Amino acid sequence: MTTAKQLAAAGVKIYRAGVWKPRTKPGGFEGVGSPALKWLMQAEKETGMYMATEVATERHAYEALKYGIDMLWIGARTAANPFAVQEIADTLKGVDIPILIKNPVNPDLELWVGAIERLYNAGIKRLGLIHRGFSAADKTVYRNLPQWHIPIELKRRFPTLPIICDPSHIGGRRDMILKLSQQAMDLNFAGLIVESHCSPDDAWSDVAQQITPDALKEVLNSLVIRDTTQTTEDLSVLRGQIDELDNDLLQLLAKRMRVSREIGQYKLEHEMPILQTQRYDEILTDRANQGERMDMSGDFVKKVLEAIHSESVRQQMVVMEKAKLM
Ligand code: PEP
Ligand code: MN
Repeated sequence: MTTAKQLAAAGVKIYRAGVWKPRTKPGGFEGVGSPALKWLMQAEKETGMYMATEVATERHAYEALKYGIDMLWIGARTAANPFAVQEIADTLKGVDIPILIKNPVNPDLELWVGAIERLYNAGIKRLGLIHRGFSAADKTVYRNLPQWHIPIELKRRFPTLPIICDPSHIGGRRDMILKLSQQAMDLNFAGLIVESHCSPDDAWSDVAQQITPDALKEVLNSLVIRDTTQTTEDLSVLRGQIDELDNDLLQLLAKRMRVSREIGQYKLEHEMPILQTQRYDEILTDRANQGERMDMSGDFVKKVLEAIHSESVRQQMVVMEKAKLM
C-alpha cells in the first residue's frame, strides 16, 4: 500500500503488481498468490490506479478475472510455453480485458508471434507486448540482452500492437533504468513497465533493479519524448540519401552475384568444388578487419559477408544444377 500510494502520487496510472511470481529456482519468493488479489482491489480503491498482474496458468487467469483485476500480462517464461499460453487464452475467451505478452526468454520471434496469435484467436482485442530482453549464455552488462531488432521486427509485422519496454528486467540494475527507458522512447516504444518498491533493498524479489517511486518519478520527468510525427525537411533529404545508397548497394550486390556465377561456371569447367573454405576464411577475417577500420563492428561485417557468401554459393549451385540438366 505504501508503494501504491507513492506511485499514484507520482502520477502512475497502472500498478504492476505480481501476485504469482515464477522463480528460476525453488525456494525463492513465489508471490503471495490469490489472497493478494484482495489487496490489489484495496489498492485500486484507495489510489484509483488500474491493477495489473501476471498470470501463468489457467487458474491464475480465472482468479484474476474473478477479483476484477484490470489488466493481465503473460511473463517471459510462460510466453515460451505454448500449452500454458493456450490454456490462458482459452480461459480468457470472450473476455474484454487488456493483455500484455512479454517476449519469451529465448530470442525466438516466431514463438512470440505464436503467443500473440493464440490470444488474438481467442478474441482478445486489446493486446499489447512487453519487451523485456532475452537470456544470454554469457555474462553481459545486461540481465537480459535488449536485442532491439527483435521488437522492431515485431512492430513492423504488427504495426498496430503497442509495445512497451521493461527496462528493469533488461538492465537488472537500478542505475540502468533511465538510460534504457530513454532508448526505448527513442525507438518509439509506447510506454514502460518498471519495477518499483518503497524500500528497494527490502524487496523480496529482484532487489537490484527496484527503484523508489520518487526515483521513478525522476526517471519519467527526465525522459525526452521526441515528436514522432514531425518529419523535417533535413530528415527527408537524409532519407533520400539512404534510399539512393540502398539502391547502390543492391546494384553492387547484383554485380557481385554475376561475378560469382562466372566463377561457378569456371569451377564447373575445371571440375573444382564450389566451396573453398580456406579462401572463405581469409575473406571473412580480412574484410572484418577492414570494416573495423571503417568504423563498423567486425561482427556486423562478418554477418553481412556470411549472408552474401551463402547467396553466392546458392547461385553457383544453380549454375552447376543447370549444367547437369543440359
Ligand atoms: C516480472 O515481471 O517480475 C517477471 C517475472 O519478469 P519476466 O517474466 O520478464 O522474467
Ligand atoms: Mn521481477
